[in-house]
Amino acid sequence: MNLNKTVIVPGQTIGIIGGGQLGRMMAFAAKANGFKVAVLDPAKDSPAGQTADYSIIGQYDDLSAVKKLAEVSDVITYEFENIDANALNWLSDHAYVPQGTRLLEITQDRIFEKRAIQQAGAEVAPYKEIHQIEDLYKHINGIGYPAVLKTARGGYDGKGQLILTGEQDLANAHGLLDQGACVLEKWVAFEKELSVIISRNPQGEAAVFPVGENIHKNNILYQTIVPARISQDAARKAITLATQLAESLDLTGTLAVEMFLTADNEIYINELAPRPHNSGHYTIEACETSQFEQHIKAVCGWPLGSTELLKPAVMVNILGDEQVGLIGKISELKDWKIHLYGKQEVKPLRKMGHVTLLRPTVEEALNEADLSGIWNTAKEKIGGTSK
Ligand code: AMP
Repeated sequence: MNLNKTVIVPGQTIGIIGGGQLGRMMAFAAKANGFKVAVLDPAKDSPAGQTADYSIIGQYDDLSAVKKLAEVSDVITYEFENIDANALNWLSDHAYVPQGTRLLEITQDRIFEKRAIQQAGAEVAPYKEIHQIEDLYKHINGIGYPAVLKTARGGYDGKGQLILTGEQDLANAHGLLDQGACVLEKWVAFEKELSVIISRNPQGEAAVFPVGENIHKNNILYQTIVPARISQDAARKAITLATQLAESLDLTGTLAVEMFLTADNEIYINELAPRPHNSGHYTIEACETSQFEQHIKAVCGWPLGSTELLKPAVMVNILGDEQVGLIGKISELKDWKIHLYGKQEVKPLRKMGHVTLLRPTVEEALNEADLSGIWNTAKEKIGGTSK
C-alpha cells in the first residue's frame, strides 16, 4: 500500500476495480510498461482477471475484498463508475486513489452530472428532475414530446430509459420512478453523436484524443469513426468543451464525454464516463498513445503521450454471436486489428470484442467492414434512439 505517492514506477502494482474488457485493456497497457496488476471482480476468470498478477474474487461492496485489493496495490483505479459508496470512502482514506471520489460520485447520478456539466459552462438538453409521477405531469408540456425519461442512477446502454412520444406513454413511467429519481430530457434531433476522450495527470497536464463519431444500434455502440465526419468548427468546439469539463471537474485519469451535435452546430453534452470508453478503442492502433496507455500514465503521474491520429480508423464492436462469424472469416481478414475479450459465455448483444480497421479513408474502412458480412446491417435499424 502506498499513500500519497504521485509517481508510480514499473515493478509496482496497479489495482483495478472491475474485471471487464476495459480493465483487461488497461492491464495489457500496464503490463507492457512493467507494472504488476491486481484485479477485483465478482467472477472467476473475468476478462481482466485472466491477465492479472493478483486476481481478487469478491463483490464490489465486500469491504474485505476491497481491502485485499488495497493491500497488494500501490495505486488504485477503476474501469466502471458504479462503485459502492462505502468501498469508495474506505479506499479514499486507506489507499492511493489519485482519481479521487468526487468525479465518481458525480457520474453515478445523472442529476449531479447535468449540474456539473452546466457549472462547467457546457450545455445539456433541456431537462427536469422527476421525483414522483406528479412532477412528470407537471413538466412534460414544458419539455415537449418526444422526450426521454431516464433513471438518475444505475442505467447503462439504454437500460433504465423510457421514450415518451405522447400522453399515452406517461403511465408507463411508474416502473422507472419506482427505482428512484429520474430526469426528463427533451429529445435532441441530433445530426451526429460524438465523443471526446481526455486524460489528465495529477500534475494538471491534459491531453485530448481526436473526436470520434459514434453510431449506435440496439442501444449499444456499433461503430466509432475517426476522424468524425463533421466540420472543423464543430470538432474544435467538441475538443474545447471536453477540455473545459476536464478542468472544471479537476480531472485526474480519463474522462469520456458523449455529445450530440445538431444541424446548426450546437453541442449538447449527453453523458460523462470517468474512465476509458468503448468509443476510444480505436486509439489502440490509430493513435500514437492509446487511451489505456494514457490512463496508466495519468494515474501513475507520468507525462502524458501524444494523442496524434496516425491513420483514419473505424472501430466496430463484436457483439454476441458475431464473434462466431468473425472467427469463421478470420483467414480472409487482412490487416484487421482483432480484439477478443476472453469471455466464455456468449449472450445476445454482449460485448465479446471489437475490431479496428485503419485505412487511407474512413469510407474505405466502412465499406470493407460492411462487405465482410460479419454485421448484418441491412436487417437492423441503425442509429437514432439508442446506444
Ligand atoms: P444514454 O444512456 O443517456 O447515453 O442514452 C443512450 C442513447 O440514447 C444515446 O446514445 C442516444 O442515442 C439516445 N439518447 C439519449 N438521450 C437522448 C436525447 N435527449 N435526445 C436524443 N437521443 C438521446
